[in-house]
Amino acid sequence: MKEISCKLLVIGAGPGGYVCAIRAGQLGVDTVIVEASKPGGTCLNVGCIPSKALIHAAEEFEKVAHMAGGKSPLGINIAAPTLDLAKTVAWKDGIVSRLNSGVAGLLKKAKVKTVQGWATFRDGKTVEVETETGTQVIRAETIVIATGSAPVELPFLPFGGPVISSTEALALSDVPKKLAVVGGGYIGLELGMAFARMGSHVTVVEALPRVLSQYDAELTRPVLKRLGELGVEVMTGAKAKGLSTKGDALLVETSDGKNAKIATDKILVTVGRKPLTEGWGLEQIDLDRAGKFIRIDDQCRSSMRGIFAIGDVTGEPMLAHRAMAQGEMVAEIAAGHKRSWDKRAIPAICFTDPELVTAGLTPDEAKALAGEIKIGQFPFAANGRAMTKQGEDGFVRIVARADNHLVLGIQAVGQGVSELATAFGLALEMGARLEDIAGTIHAHPTQGEGFQEAALKALGHALHI
Ligand code: FAD
Repeated sequence: MKEISCKLLVIGAGPGGYVCAIRAGQLGVDTVIVEASKPGGTCLNVGCIPSKALIHAAEEFEKVAHMAGGKSPLGINIAAPTLDLAKTVAWKDGIVSRLNSGVAGLLKKAKVKTVQGWATFRDGKTVEVETETGTQVIRAETIVIATGSAPVELPFLPFGGPVISSTEALALSDVPKKLAVVGGGYIGLELGMAFARMGSHVTVVEALPRVLSQYDAELTRPVLKRLGELGVEVMTGAKAKGLSTKGDALLVETSDGKNAKIATDKILVTVGRKPLTEGWGLEQIDLDRAGKFIRIDDQCRSSMRGIFAIGDVTGEPMLAHRAMAQGEMVAEIAAGHKRSWDKRAIPAICFTDPELVTAGLTPDEAKALAGEIKIGQFPFAANGRAMTKQGEDGFVRIVARADNHLVLGIQAVGQGVSELATAFGLALEMGARLEDIAGTIHAHPTQGEGFQEAALKALGHALHI
């Protein structure tokens, strides 16, 4: 049994863990990172990056498919395209593998030692790793748990055969003719819409009265309209019950209590993700939990001295950029810097068609906090750039305090609005007032002008509406 010691040990090389290790290494902290699989975690290997690659391919395919048969108003005419999904997946795997090497290289450059294998706690300062060459014992002054999350499995629809999670959905070699998606949250709709754009007949089964229920109804309206255009059937208030005996249909209880059978080739279950708190000896160290997550304070410290936790294992929102920001902060704390969580907003993007972005407070949350608020909303139908991109459906909405015009929240729905998330986040972090956004010269013609116009609208003098 080999033994090593270090100042900082990070368990899990997802976006939380690897950013933490790189920053610690940059600051001269003697750091070891343990990863059971490939560097980059869920996000890089089976999450953010591969899903966005697949969504991009679906978008490209749909674009050209629309041009076939003289249907394009742009006057472009081509023969009907075909899609080789296996080739698409190979292209996506190439991107993932380049980024895997990139992360490994960055860790090396920061002089972080990487140990490949599954880590288990022995006690609060010691971890055992089962590596290919035997057991490695690592003692550390400080340990960061960044073990991430895994898809939730339904007991009556266990993964296997036609029942798949997002991980398998990102590696299919053929586009399923019929796809049932159980769970109408962001992962289910991002992937469900991508397959619909590639030609699948998609049915979404959602137990709640609405899909994308974390967003307000006005914001999701353009997405619902698009789901209709794509021929996606959305069953709300419906409960998935199991797989038919032949394995070719999803059994569902509809909102009016009737039993239905949805013929399908694949069933994609996206009913949420659970923190990975099992299998690595949490019971040995007995950390406090907040529900199913590890409880942390505003410095990501757990209930045990010297043990931090970051990323999906610590709670919502389970997003890569939250994990990274926590990782960077913890590395600086480990290096002796004074840091704590002081972020005003964690922007969230849903890469459906059209895309959704939220940052900061919703109108209801802002009202509850500030009492009187101002709302400015600007439609992309009045934005020249959106028209030239055939993306007129959607809007930008700004929510601000009525008394001092401090911006509290920004939401947008529309084609390509994911690229506006950075401006929204910056405005909130900088404590922008409506006048700051209205007074910033926004380049023309861009969708960003909709952001400026929404601020002007809240101030009562929008120029283009
Ligand atoms: P993870 O990325 O889950 O990494 C944890 C790592 O720890 C894994 O590599 C695992 O192998 C390793 N590990 C666990 N236990 C051990 C152990 N005991 N020993 C050794 N190694 C261990 N987020 C976004 O912000 N934007 C998106 O667009 C987005 N899209 C997504 C799409 C899909 C389909 C999915 C599934 C997720 C998506 N997410 C997105 C969420 C994002 O992937 C996660 O929030 C993010 O990966 C969390 O990072 P993390 O570092 O906490 O954990």
